[in-house]
Amino acid sequence: MAWRSSTLAYLERHCPAALDHHEAGTPRDREVFQVGIAAHAILDVLCRRQVELGRGVEGDEAAALAQAAAEVLVREGREFDGTPEPPMSPAASAEGRELAVRAWYVYPTQLEDRSEHGLAVDVDWRPVDYSSPRAWWKAAMDIVGPCVGDTRDDEDDGGIGVCVTDYKSAWPTDETELETIQIRGQALVAVAHAERLLGFSPAFVRRRVINLRTLASFEADLVLDEDGEQTLSTWRQDVRLLVAAAESRVGGKRPARPGAHCLGCPFLGRCEDARAHLRGDVLDGDPETIATRYAVVDAMRDMLRDACVALTAEGPVVLDDGVVGHVGRPRRVLVPTAAADLCRAWWKGDEPDPRAVGLVTALEPSVTAAGKVAAALYPRDRSKGAKADRDALIDSLTISRIVARFGIHPTSTE
Ligand code: SF4
Repeated sequence: MAWRSSTLAYLERHCPAALDHHEAGTPRDREVFQVGIAAHAILDVLCRRQVELGRGVEGDEAAALAQAAAEVLVREGREFDGTPEPPMSPAASAEGRELAVRAWYVYPTQLEDRSEHGLAVDVDWRPVDYSSPRAWWKAAMDIVGPCVGDTRDDEDDGGIGVCVTDYKSAWPTDETELETIQIRGQALVAVAHAERLLGFSPAFVRRRVINLRTLASFEADLVLDEDGEQTLSTWRQDVRLLVAAAESRVGGKRPARPGAHCLGCPFLGRCEDARAHLRGDVLDGDPETIATRYAVVDAMRDMLRDACVALTAEGPVVLDDGVVGHVGRPRRVLVPTAAADLCRAWWKGDEPDPRAVGLVTALEPSVTAAGKVAAALYPRDRSKGAKADRDALIDSLTISRIVARFGIHPTSTE
């Protein structure tokens, strides 16, 4: 049986039962992932087109290609691993297009790169074709290609390596992603295929993760010397452990482990094992049971909040004792000139240094920060008029606006 790094990620990120849900085709909330799927598909089109043309694709040309790809997603949907998927919503496709274009401008691929490239190894980590019956571990790389070594700390040439790049559309994606078995597994497969892929033995393997939301990029190189080979050997053992966990079943099922990893699990809404923790007295049980229940409820709250934000976009849902959704509330916000006005107040009316104004503007002060400046300028114990001065300054810096606030708004009982 061939194992895919992307599907074993369910087990690694969530729990063994999540892999069962995936294999059983349990419906998951597709909308949550649609933006990322669209961004991946559009970046794939851009990379492939660049290779076809044999030159870089930039500016308006890239934007036009991204738009055309987004339209295909809306009209026809995409195909994944040979399986067609339904057409995508225009909103998800448009947001995915924005993420893709921004990422393309900051991190364009090279002509030698390959996109959505599937590679596989057999059980002894020898390279085989992706569709080979001997394939045991498979990885579909967002981008794989050559890369130049880092020479900043060394006079020597850093050499040429093989780089695997994974695009992530989850906001919290950070450098910890580099140490997941998913990306390490991709690196292992890339190393196995490097000579076929590049035509030479790479000096190192680079794991790179790009957060499509924040445009942060994280990377780590592993030099393929004796120590590096030792590390690769440990990673291979980790993959084997993950596969062993995937193969382990009790009564034909993989074990569920409700808890902190339910957060973001795409099957949470339909997972009986998670729901079982919600029954009975909420404070009944040992500390582990109560903590698990808390983690499950917190994950469900997050999921329900996202669902309610979408459900109530056009107006709140009215309940017997309140409403759930967006409600307008007056709130004081800073006037557009607040940063300069704050500086002027700090400089006691003198024209402030424009560089200071630029700095304060870049810091994007809040109403709370403005209040702290006012308190520093007019401390409570200096004079009787301090409060009036503070209030006058805050009044001059802020205006009242109706701001939509999402939440549970109980009906007032007064
Ligand atoms: S919801 Fe929780 S228990 Fe259920 S499959 Fe996902 S991670 Fe496992």
